[in-house]
Amino acid sequence: MNYKKMPKIDLHCHLDGSLRAETVFDIIKKNRLELTENLEDIKKWLTAPMNCSSLDEYLRSFDLPIAVMQTKENLERVSFELMEDAAMENIKYIEIRFAPQQHTKEGLTTKEIIQSVLSGMERAEKIYDIKGNYILSCMRHLSAKSAMKIVEEGRTFIGQGVVAVDLCGGEVIGFCHKFIEPMKKAKEYGYRITIHAGETGIGENVTDAIKLLGAERIGHGVFITNNREAYNLVKERKIPLEICPTSNIQTKAVKNYKEHPIYDFYNDEIMITLNTDNRTVSDTTMTEECIQIEKTFDLKKREYINIYLNSVEAAFISEGEKEKLKGYLK
Ligand SMILES: [Zn+2]
Repeated sequence: MNYKKMPKIDLHCHLDGSLRAETVFDIIKKNRLELTENLEDIKKWLTAPMNCSSLDEYLRSFDLPIAVMQTKENLERVSFELMEDAAMENIKYIEIRFAPQQHTKEGLTTKEIIQSVLSGMERAEKIYDIKGNYILSCMRHLSAKSAMKIVEEGRTFIGQGVVAVDLCGGEVIGFCHKFIEPMKKAKEYGYRITIHAGETGIGENVTDAIKLLGAERIGHGVFITNNREAYNLVKERKIPLEICPTSNIQTKAVKNYKEHPIYDFYNDEIMITLNTDNRTVSDTTMTEECIQIEKTFDLKKREYINIYLNSVEAAFISEGEKEKLKGYLK
């Protein structure tokens, strides 16, 4: 099937993992940052190898993009460009996530940071047939207080381009307990909630994310395979999993596409969605993820449409917007 032409939805895409190498190079030159002189080196630094040893090694590829995302202008630019890249491959709706806590090194406030990425998104929406929303990620190695600050300061943007909060970064067992208060507050304020969990072997974090934090969706969730309670909970409550196959191979969650449980999940009526995670760090696109899954599991058009419709259902948007996304299939 021609996946480039098919309408697509990406619900799990990190802004800082999806910068164009050319843009990073351009910003380095303009600011005379003494990082490197060479575009090829930058490409290497921005992309995690397929034979990465762990999630922690994978996360190192974010250092350089974060270094150049410290001004309003650059944040606006990379947000616009990600929307543009997505529109070019016929993504009709995207939820982009990023952690405002990572962009304060040159003195920007949380509100300025959020406002800047929203401006970039809005500029792209005016030019292209794509709609986007932002998810505010809180880094889980930081304190509950720091997550609370994001929840509080992002509040004014709910419904103005911000729809949800997330917890991300390295995954340790039982991390959810620390964030009960900020997530409770987030829910009260009207944020939707998605949580990275079960990405690195710890299926019980998925149960915690749903039961303790009220997660409505789970980022990855691959390791519900080793935890019966988590598996049943996801299945019974129809909690959508934001699956990102290429990223899962890089972080060693699975060995290869063939061993990815995505298709078993699909056949067992687990509500899976297909996403990129990081377009640059994982050197992928939505088209590429679709092609890999088609090739590996002989995915049929009808099955792709079901996955697309799962994404429509799982999206943090209104019923009217969901109808519009369904309309692209006709
Ligand atoms: Zn992620």
